[in-house]
Formats: sequence, C-alpha cells, structure tokens
Amino acid sequence: MENCVFCKIISGEIKSNIVYDDEDFVIFPDLNPKAKLHYLAVPKKHFATLAEMDEADSMMLGRILGKIPILSSKLGLENGYRLIINQKGESGNDAGQEVMHLHIHILAGERLEM
Ligand code: AMP
Ligand code: ZN
Repeated sequence: MENCVFCKIISGEIKSNIVYDDEDFVIFPDLNPKAKLHYLAVPKKHFATLAEMDEADSMMLGRILGKIPILSSKLGLENGYRLIINQKGESGNDAGQEVMHLHIHILAGERLEM
C-alpha cells in the first residue's frame, strides 16, 4: 500500500531493526517506546483495522498471537507482556490509532501500570 509507513518497513524502503520476520508478519521496535521494551508485531498484508479482515486474515492473526509466546526469550518477554491493538472506529478514533496498518503493540520490560 502506497504511503503506508509499515508497508515501507516491510518492503525495506524504510530501515528498521526487524527482530523477527516470517511469512505472516514482522516484529520491530516502536520508534517512540511507551515502555522499556516496546515492539510492534505487524502483518505483512496491509489492512487498516480488524473490521477489514476476512476469515484467512483472522487465521493469520491467530498464528501471530500464537507465535508471540514462542518468541518470549528472544524478545525479553519472560516477565510478561501486554498486547494492545488500537482501533479506529467508523465514526471516531477514541483509541487514537495513528498508523492505518493493523499492528499489535507488545509492551514489556518493566511493571506496567494501567
Ligand atoms: P497506533 O497509535 O496504535 O497506530 O501506534 C502507532 C505506533 O507506530 C506509535 O507507537 C508510533 O510510535 C509507531 N511508529 C510510527 N512510525 C514508526 C516507524 N517508522 N518505526 C517504528 N514505529 C513507528
Ligand atoms: Zn501498510
């Protein structure tokens, strides 16, 4: 997708320190970390929100979620982690989704307050 920062990271057009890469998704550090460890798990397929997913996309998202615990020691998640997906709605953006390419925030590395 043209002009999508995460598509550009996936294609290599924008440099990022990709720490994991498979057929479904990549993981790289968030540019503006909100915790000591802050990664983004980003599907290679461009879609903006959960509302745009078809059944195959849902299966792919399930595979991503299943892979995160397997990567625990590689990513330093042994003390636990928090996953967040910010979602823009049809008529508002209360969650404040900024990048319109679905992504999962992985926050860890310290005690996280709500
Ligand atoms: P969200 O509000 O859920 O859309 O979050 C978007 C996240 O993407 C923010 O935490 C940004 O810091 C992060 N971000 C934006 N551009 C980049 C980039 N080039 N590399 C890494 N993270 C980015
Ligand atoms: Zn994209």
